[in-house]
Amino acid sequence: MQKYFIMFGPPGAGKGTHAAPMVKRYHLKHISTGELLRSEIAAGTELGKQAKALIEKGELVPDEVVEGMIAGVFAANPDVKGFLLDGFPRTVQQAIDLDEMLESRDEYVTGVISLMIPDEVIKERIKGRALIEGRADDANDETIANRIRTYHAKTEPLIEVYKQKGIYHEVDAVGTIPEVEARVMALMDTF
Ligand code: AMP
Repeated sequence: MQKYFIMFGPPGAGKGTHAAPMVKRYHLKHISTGELLRSEIAAGTELGKQAKALIEKGELVPDEVVEGMIAGVFAANPDVKGFLLDGFPRTVQQAIDLDEMLESRDEYVTGVISLMIPDEVIKERIKGRALIEGRADDANDETIANRIRTYHAKTEPLIEVYKQKGIYHEVDAVGTIPEVEARVMALMDTF
């Protein structure tokens, strides 16, 4: 039985930052849909070309595109202890589809780790990251604003979905990286 954790939160909450030590400590496979899409763009694939315009506007790419990538990573890693999904699911439909993918194998989402951060802090963090990582979608104010709007409209409703399943856990993500990491690990140790 593999474990499935979801790293949840708005853009800039620190999902990728905290995913790295988690996957090491708990022997999980990290799946960042954003990173997978950026690799497709860098490789110049057809999928990457289609995703690029949407990502640069701060829109979501179609569910079936990200779900195909996720299913591929699940299938390619039968021996890991579990998976840490970062940036997926991002819509209620994606959450339903994920449940279906797992149920067909008698598996389920183990826990949702939700990084809580106010919108004002999101903007500062994304701007800081733009200087370090050079992501096109971090550099433009309108794109950042649209990503935050998209999060509230399409992704935030998932909180209720996972609360109702009893697997939703919040972590205060305001603080230094070591402070937040300690909170995340304290929660992960309970699973
Ligand atoms: P991220 O690195 O998670 O911030 O993702 C960067 C961008 O990739 C997002 O703004 C979306 O355009 C796209 N993306 C990543 N994950 C998903 C997803 N699960 N569903 C749709 N679009 C996604």
